[in-house]
Amino acid sequence: MDTRKNHPETLVAQALGWVDDATRAITPPIHVSSTYLRDPDNQYRSGRVYARADNPAFDQAEAVINALEGGHQALLFASGMAAATAVFQALAPGDHVLAPKVMYWSLRNWLMTFATHWGLQVELIDMSSPAAVQAALRPGKTKLVWVETPANPLWTLTDIAATAQAAHAAGALLAVDSTVATPVLTQPLALGADIVMHAATKYLNGHSDLIAGALVTRADGELWQRVRKIRAQLGGTLGSFEAWLLLRGLRTLHLRVHAASASAQRIAEHFSTDPRVLDVLYPGLPGFPGHALARSQMQGGFGGMLSLRVRGGEQAAVDVAARTRLWKRATSLGGVESLIEHRASIEGVGTPAPSDLLRLSVGIEHVDDLIADLDQALPAATAVD
Ligand SMILES: *Cc1c(COP(=O)(O)O)cnc(C)c1O
Repeated sequence: MDTRKNHPETLVAQALGWVDDATRAITPPIHVSSTYLRDPDNQYRSGRVYARADNPAFDQAEAVINALEGGHQALLFASGMAAATAVFQALAPGDHVLAPKVMYWSLRNWLMTFATHWGLQVELIDMSSPAAVQAALRPGKTKLVWVETPANPLWTLTDIAATAQAAHAAGALLAVDSTVATPVLTQPLALGADIVMHAATKYLNGHSDLIAGALVTRADGELWQRVRKIRAQLGGTLGSFEAWLLLRGLRTLHLRVHAASASAQRIAEHFSTDPRVLDVLYPGLPGFPGHALARSQMQGGFGGMLSLRVRGGEQAAVDVAARTRLWKRATSLGGVESLIEHRASIEGVGTPAPSDLLRLSVGIEHVDDLIADLDQALPAATAVD
């Protein structure tokens, strides 16, 4: 299939037009072999040796994700965390890295513990401020800038193009966790990023039935070669069945992301005037601090993630989550079913999430049902001060 002529929706729905040479099947088989036959002359003419390093089960999903991001190459990992940590592990002890204060909690936690013990100099900054990025960069010493946009769970925006320029001028690479934006809404590589990371667990798969991660690079290079070795040698490799399921989920990515974005916009607008809600955090709202940047950096919507700050504090927020019937009380995001979560209690001490914040992952249910369920779960209007 000509990847230049067709729209991304078309490329992804047909998994780049792949057809099995041997059987003419239009969906790939699941390759499960852990090892490959060596030729009598002791060579591996197939190019495959052992499935920890390399597995044909990954080929099509990697090709689709790479095409979506406009990259040079994509690699699947056993989880989003395995993908993200591979990038940091490809650096050397002593290297200085910048990461956002507001970011996916488990990765922030890993950076401040394991990565720091291993010798990385991790500095957490306000990544929404170009001036703060500029001031924190140490030319020659800073090797990587890590960005998440919109960032969990406040949906803070970071200017990818400006950050890429600043990072490159200081000799650093820029990596973007684009899990929440998805390649449907944001194209980090085209904006100048060097590496894109996805928790494929979330929107790329979209059905809350597997854990997977992906990295895409704009170009080959030393760091990328180390990332490849880390996957093969540390063994954070995805299972064949998960890779197959991921490709199946990917085919409907655009439909799911557009539906979730449209509904999230409606929900954000609906509750932004509700007196029982203190604040609605959503990049698609004109009053949101990152809205102008979101408009220029994201296309086709502002994503399916938003947060509500419930008037009345922590207990009021926890009570709202307890009363929902349709929204499922669960962590994670990007699935077809809507999830609600009291974020501060899962993140714990040091979280930037206000204690009255509920994180919402909007699915593809009818938006009126989602609004009605939140409406009945919020406290009665008479109880409001
Ligand atoms: C879930 C998530 C991760 C981690 O992915 P796992 O597949 O759970 O390891 C990283 N970044 C973001 C933004 C996420 O939502």
